[in-house]
Amino acid sequence: MNVIDHFDGHLPPQHRLDPARRLQELSQLGRALTRYESRDLWQIDTDRLPASLARLRRHCRNFAATHMAPNVRLLDEAEHLPAGQLHPAARQLLSSAGRAGLMTGMLPAPLGSAAVADLRYSPAFRFAIQVEELACVCSGQMLLLSAHQLGLAPICLSGDLAAMWRHVRPMTQDFLQGIPHLFAYAITEPSAGSDAEDGHGAAHNTPRVIARREGRGYVLEGRKCFISGGDVARKIAVFAALEDEGFDSWTCFVVDGEQRGLERQRTELKMGMRASSAAELNFNAVHVPASAIVGGLRQGWALNRATLNTSRYPVAAMAVGVARRACEIAMEHCLRHRLGGKPLLSYQEVQLHLAQMIAETRSLRTFIWQQAGGGMQARQSEAAMCKFLATDRAQAVCEMALDLMAEHGLSQDAGLEKLLRDVRLTRIFEGTNQINRLGVIEDLQPLLLARLHGGAAVSV
Ligand SMILES: Cc1cc2nc3c(=O)[nH]c(=O)nc-3n(C[C@H](O)[C@H](O)[C@H](O)COP(=O)(O)OP(=O)(O)OC[C@H]3O[C@@H](n4cnc5c(N)ncnc54)[C@H](O)[C@@H]3O)c2cc1C
Repeated sequence: MNVIDHFDGHLPPQHRLDPARRLQELSQLGRALTRYESRDLWQIDTDRLPASLARLRRHCRNFAATHMAPNVRLLDEAEHLPAGQLHPAARQLLSSAGRAGLMTGMLPAPLGSAAVADLRYSPAFRFAIQVEELACVCSGQMLLLSAHQLGLAPICLSGDLAAMWRHVRPMTQDFLQGIPHLFAYAITEPSAGSDAEDGHGAAHNTPRVIARREGRGYVLEGRKCFISGGDVARKIAVFAALEDEGFDSWTCFVVDGEQRGLERQRTELKMGMRASSAAELNFNAVHVPASAIVGGLRQGWALNRATLNTSRYPVAAMAVGVARRACEIAMEHCLRHRLGGKPLLSYQEVQLHLAQMIAETRSLRTFIWQQAGGGMQARQSEAAMCKFLATDRAQAVCEMALDLMAEHGLSQDAGLEKLLRDVRLTRIFEGTNQINRLGVIEDLQPLLLARLHGGAAVSV
């Protein structure tokens, strides 16, 4: 077979018109201000990060390659386990991730394991970096690890040091020794998915998980569904309304997974992210002390919104991880697969398609990093825009990869069909993309109303 020294429509790198070669002839200033390079794009983006975040990115990539890559097929295809059971490979993953500090990075010692230097960057930014690397290898395993951060978030965001000491510190001590100690986050109810995340819906719906005052504590009754890791978590942040009140009375209770009356009934057999369970939880007269409340009575609605605002950046980043993998799989295929005696990559239509996929993926990452890294405070409209844009476009990138690979992309071996199954879920959880779009307008509403009454025009 002939050695290929260029793809159709391009000059060989040694050609006299090659821009990288000719650049050397430019003035020092010209060379200082322009650059042509054939360099790994992941490396370029990593080098642009501050040193400690670049280190985190490399650490997570290495972790995923070592501990997740070998089990991608195993955990995706494993038999659907009854609620409460962890696959041995999943247990091992949790243990390794704990030792590697991936489960405890929200807070610094002695509560967590974040390096003090990293606290200059928002948790949303740090988790976005972590999650992209894990999702690029397997978003099911990533969700198994990352739903835990969602469960911890209300405790950390409550600012309640006593609650952090009580709940977060033992978790950190266990995980750093390799002992799984998962948290889960429970807001969704069978009759309140979007209504648990959207003000208008909540104001017109009735919550079904209720906390009834009894003696010095509370009794929880009702049902939560689709709770990631809810069947295997040691602690669950449960959002419940006070008896005879609405969502505005929502209160966050940290409930022990082994608590009497808590029935972890079943898990869903879902289309994607199968390494992570989605559990139905029944609360049959679950008695909890008042000390189980984090953030204060009736503070749950605010705590939930604050949690979702910080966690939507990482959800956007998981979609970027999946899109990146789709780009890599498609690029590899277009290099190896031959059509009409030459690599598929020689066709310029294919090159245009690939360039579009790569540009979309990297522009999403840039947007997320800019928004999540722009300050300590997570903002609803920015987080929501990152979430719906990244997850919608990541699915489009996966479909473009399938366009390029045609029937070869359909086989399980290619890895692409799993990405398509997984990425679809990111458009549903943490608020459907419709709900996230509404969040952008909710933020703008005061300005828009003011404009309606003669105020300044609103710029975008
Ligand atoms: C893999 C996975 C993991 C999950 N993990 C968790 C978890 O850990 N904890 C947890 O609490 N929940 C979790 N969920 C639940 C998830 O957050 C909900 O599925 C999601 O909020 C949507 O709710 P729903 O499924 O009840 O849809 P519904 O709320 O019933 O929505 C149905 C449709 O109506 C649309 N819609 C609803 N209201 C409006 C409106 N006002 N305007 C326009 N359109 C609207 C929605 O966009 C959607 O298209 C998870 C879900 C999945 C798929």
